Amino acid sequence: MKNLEKYLSLLNEEVDGLLLTSRYSRHYGAEYDISEGVAIVSKKGCRYFTDSRYIEAAQKGIKGFEVIMTDREHPFTLLLNEAIADFGVTALGYEEDYLTVAEFNAYESKLNAKLIPMNAQISGFRAVKEDWELENMRKAQAITDKAFSEICTRIKAGMTEKELQAELIYCLYKNGGEGLSFDPIVVSGPNTSLPHGVATDRVIQTGDFITMDFGVLYHGYCSDMTRTVAVGYATDEMKTVYNTVLQAQLAGIAATRAGVKGKEIDAAARKVIEDAGYGSYFGHGYGHSLGLEVHEAPNCNPSGETVMEAGMVSSAEPGIYLPGKFGVRIEDVVIFTADGCKNITKSPKNLIIV
Ligand code: ZN
Ligand code: ZN
Repeated sequence: MKNLEKYLSLLNEEVDGLLLTSRYSRHYGAEYDISEGVAIVSKKGCRYFTDSRYIEAAQKGIKGFEVIMTDREHPFTLLLNEAIADFGVTALGYEEDYLTVAEFNAYESKLNAKLIPMNAQISGFRAVKEDWELENMRKAQAITDKAFSEICTRIKAGMTEKELQAELIYCLYKNGGEGLSFDPIVVSGPNTSLPHGVATDRVIQTGDFITMDFGVLYHGYCSDMTRTVAVGYATDEMKTVYNTVLQAQLAGIAATRAGVKGKEIDAAARKVIEDAGYGSYFGHGYGHSLGLEVHEAPNCNPSGETVMEAGMVSSAEPGIYLPGKFGVRIEDVVIFTADGCKNITKSPKNLIIV
């Protein structure tokens, strides 16, 4: 089914239009990425509004929508009201998770249609990916894998976390990344116990763990991976913790298939870490979905009640974080299939000593 048809399937007598304001839903519905704009979807017609900076690209790339330019004399609300009148729309489903209060107030006071919060339904379609979306995610992941193998040859004791982060970003772009799916996390030594630490001026030393969590955008789709490597050598305790995280991740991946709940996958991984005595040092969830955004629903965490379906994706990222000492996280991205999953992250997971 075309994505626009999925959106149209949400419409009925109560809600006869959709107001698409987020970049993600506009990208999804139009199957073309324009960073700024607004779109309206109805069974009588669909219109996409953007300004002079993007109008030429929008007119060339967007299918299924009439593309119209907004400017000072023709603000979004005026153009939307024209569409509301032309298409006879009375109620618009909108994405309450993606509007500021100021934006909502402007739409609510100016539009000649009722606004109905429908973010869960609008974004819900994005959970099960089409083949072409998975292709983009595979490509994003392949770029990320290449960047990882390259960065491993550049890590040296004596460089700072910030310097390593800059090198990593260079490798991500050089290998084909079209953007970063988020600011890469690069932490070393005792800073690796901070699951989402920020790179500092700390100088990397022999005997450190380094955790790097990073990803790129490819045609708007995100990759996300984490590897922890050791500089020069690893102590027995470092090896034990690393192997525990790896075994937990493998247990989670083994439990990953369509038909299971997110929380069951989390539990399979968490059990390995708990059995090894590190349960209280794994504070976050095992995995999250991703696609146009790096964090999407559904989640594979202890409260994940969603029954997973083929074509969904999840990160697989258990970790152990020992405050003041070190931490380890290993993260891949997998695609759910009927009887298991496909891991699209190809980088090795044995403990790499650089
Ligand atoms: Zn990550
Ligand atoms: Zn992640």
